[in-house]
Amino acid sequence: MTITTAKVEKFMNLVSGAGRVLLVGHTNPDGDSIGSLTGTKAFLRSAFPKIVTTAVVPTDYPDFLKFVDARGEILNFLSVPSRVRMEVKKADVIVCLDFNALSRIDSLGGLIEKSKAKKILIDHHPQPDTNFDLTISSAKVSSTCELTYWLLKKVGAKIGKKMNEECRNSLYVGLMTDTNNYSNSVFPSTFKMAAELMDAGVDKEGIQYRVLSCFSEDRMRLMGFMLLNKMKIFPKYKAACMILDKKTKDKFNFKDGDAEGFVNLPLNIAGVEISALFTESERFIRVSLRSKGDFSVNMLGRKYYNGGGHERAAGGRLYIPVGNLEKYFLDSLRHTF
Ligand code: 5GP
Ligand code: MN
Repeated sequence: MTITTAKVEKFMNLVSGAGRVLLVGHTNPDGDSIGSLTGTKAFLRSAFPKIVTTAVVPTDYPDFLKFVDARGEILNFLSVPSRVRMEVKKADVIVCLDFNALSRIDSLGGLIEKSKAKKILIDHHPQPDTNFDLTISSAKVSSTCELTYWLLKKVGAKIGKKMNEECRNSLYVGLMTDTNNYSNSVFPSTFKMAAELMDAGVDKEGIQYRVLSCFSEDRMRLMGFMLLNKMKIFPKYKAACMILDKKTKDKFNFKDGDAEGFVNLPLNIAGVEISALFTESERFIRVSLRSKGDFSVNMLGRKYYNGGGHERAAGGRLYIPVGNLEKYFLDSLRHTF
């Protein structure tokens, strides 16, 4: 993975000529989304102090990631829609981080599409949309935080500015979370970045503690309950699924982010290569898909779940009753194999 000099220069030209830069994260932001937002914001703040940089997300994000935005500056479109609309309007440059198409960010995407600002994409999903003024995209990195690190390092070298501590700690979050603590999507460049960040004194233990070892008791018991009572295994398709319905959510005082990582668990079983987690919400069923081995859940997500993602980690949405989910899942596999 290399970011060409031409792209680095174009990024610098677009950003350094802007009065206002808007950084945009994706729906249901995860560690990579939040880390790339706060990391880029921290870098731009020190490298280009005159630029007003704002970060927005389409929906709220889990409490266990709140520490990443210690300044509490990320604006949530759902809580402050008119402020976000104004920021979109005033932006000269809009940087989209960790998603590959404006359709991934719901109604905020429509607003951004209409804006006259120059649009930059920094992302690691396959098949990025082609309607950006600058696309910095590679599926051969662990995370958007990693791609952002290599980009900002080059920008920093050109203007004689090193990344600050806030930037390094932020980018480390996405590196750690998108690789599931270095168990998947790891490339040589991923360890290289981790090594460089550790050399620079990144708070590895502290970040790991806050993100991975701060479950609420309810969240831990919900995980046990799901594995014991909700996980179903279908050996014929080497697949497993869990359905997290409204009743179960209420039983365990569910909060956003509580089911983060659950979908990976069935993949620890020998012979299970595909895992799905279906989460009931007010308007739709949120779908999370994972695989180990060669099976492409990106393809499955695109074809059957109104979504997509990476080859081994994807998601989507369904608009069907909870009672029909298991059959739908099995049908999607039956048609695929
Ligand atoms: P998660 O299961 O953690 O919610 O999502 C895993 C990955 O699937 C995300 O990084 C994202 O790439 C992708 N993804 C999740 N939900 C959607 C969706 O609704 N549409 C698309 N296109 N991709 C999604
Ligand atoms: Mn990511």
